[in-house]
Order: sequence, then structure tokens, then C-alpha cells
Amino acid sequence: MYLNVDGLSKSFGDLEVLKDIDLSIEKGKVLSIIGPSGSGKTTLLRCLNALELPNKGKFTFHDDFKVDFSGKISKKEVLNLRRKSGMVFQSYNLFPHKTALENVTEGPVIVQKRNKEKEKKYALELLTKVGLQDKANLYPHQLSGGQQQRVGIARALAIEPELMLFDEPTSALDPELIGDVLSVIKDLASENWTMAVVTHELQFAEQVSDEVIFMDGGYIVEQGPPEEVLKAPKEERTQQFLQRIL
Ligand code: ADP
Repeated sequence: MYLNVDGLSKSFGDLEVLKDIDLSIEKGKVLSIIGPSGSGKTTLLRCLNALELPNKGKFTFHDDFKVDFSGKISKKEVLNLRRKSGMVFQSYNLFPHKTALENVTEGPVIVQKRNKEKEKKYALELLTKVGLQDKANLYPHQLSGGQQQRVGIARALAIEPELMLFDEPTSALDPELIGDVLSVIKDLASENWTMAVVTHELQFAEQVSDEVIFMDGGYIVEQGPPEEVLKAPKEERTQQFLQRIL
């Protein structure tokens, strides 16, 4: 077990977006999160990374680090939570005035105050890993969307997180660029990274996931292995969703 989430709730004003969510992420496994737009998938991922703070709920990590959001949360706890996971955003969120390499070293050097030369070397290794060794000195506007997203993945890896979070990593990409990004994520899965992926790419989810969660209206409606949830869903809402998007 890597992380156990117990009774997570999140509201924006009167709108309750996540309702008493329980879930576990196993170490070295891939959890995919699917569901209609507005069902709370992104908010769930952002809560896992403390980019949004839950109103209620308990996180328990494998190393016994616990956070209970029912009480007051310290800044240090938030920082500790953020360090555990690397987030890959739908719209890449790269710094436009920094090169690919600088985007990757920014977190470790500026935020985590690590050694600059060492991080540069590591960043180059990560750019090589995502197939961009020859693009290190280019700026985001000189890269395709798929290349920018691969820089985004290298950047998330650079902080050496325990958990990788992907928020619809290919939804902003032209169809011909999706494959390269998915193949980088598949490589990470085969290296046994612990990952949670919000995705509409069902074929990818089927190939890469150990567990799939279907969300609707702020609830987890169904969860299980991909061959069950994606191929033989028990719940009517899951069946309807899959029929609509296939
Ligand atoms: P999904 O990722 O499944 O499309 P989201 O988590 O993005 O769903 O959004 C769930 C609901 O929460 C939506 O109704 C959305 O409008 C609302 N929401 C998300 N972020 C905010 C925010 N920062 N402020 C207010 N409402 C938000």
C-alpha cells in the first residue's frame, strides 16, 4: 500500500465536488480515474497533491505520514504532501521564458534548493528518458504540444516524487501526438512507478492500469481491475458512460 485515502470531501462554496471518497493506491501500481466531465476527477487529483485542500478526510502514507484534514493543517504538512507527488497537467503549465532544461531543473534547484550542476545532469537524463535529449535548450514555443507535455513529465519526475499524478495528460494534444506521450507513461508504468492517471483514453487505461475508478457526481461509483470496470461494468452509470464515449 502506498496511500490510503479515507472519507475525503471537498466543496467549493456550496458545491460539494467530492463526497466521502475512500481509495487506496498500491505501491508500484497504476490507478486510472475515468468519468464524465465535472465528476470531480481533477479535484481529486489536486487534493492528492494538496493543490486543493480537502475539507475533510485522512491521508495515510506507507511511511506512516498521516494528514487529517478535519483539523488544522500546517504549512509544513502541505509542503510534505506536495513533495510526495509530481503532477502532470492537462495544459503542460511550463514556464514560457525558460528552456526545456530550465523547466525541469526549476523545482529541484529553486524550490528544493538542490545542487544546480547535479540537477542539470539529472534533468538531461530525464529529458533523454522522455526522448528530448536534443531539445534541452529550446523554449516551450519551439516545441510541439506532445514535446511540451514530455517536458512536463520530466519536470514532475525531477523532484523524485514517490507518486506521479497525471491529469488528462493527452487531452490538449492533436491525435497524432498522443501516442508519444502515452508511450512515455507506459514506460514509467513498466518501471513500477506508483501512478494515478485521469484519462479519457480507455484503451490506454485498459493496457496500463492495475485498478480503474469510475467517478460520477463526486462519488466513486465503481472500482476494480480494468477487465471488470471497463469490459464488464456492474453499475448502470458506468455502462452508460462507456457506451457514450466508445
Ligand atoms: P472533472 O475533472 O471530472 O471534469 P473537476 O474536478 O474539474 O471535474 O470539477 C468538478 C466540479 O467542481 C465542477 O462542477 C467544477 O465546475 C467545480 N470546480 C472545480 N474547481 C473549482 C474551483 N476552483 N472553484 C469552484 N468550482 C470548481
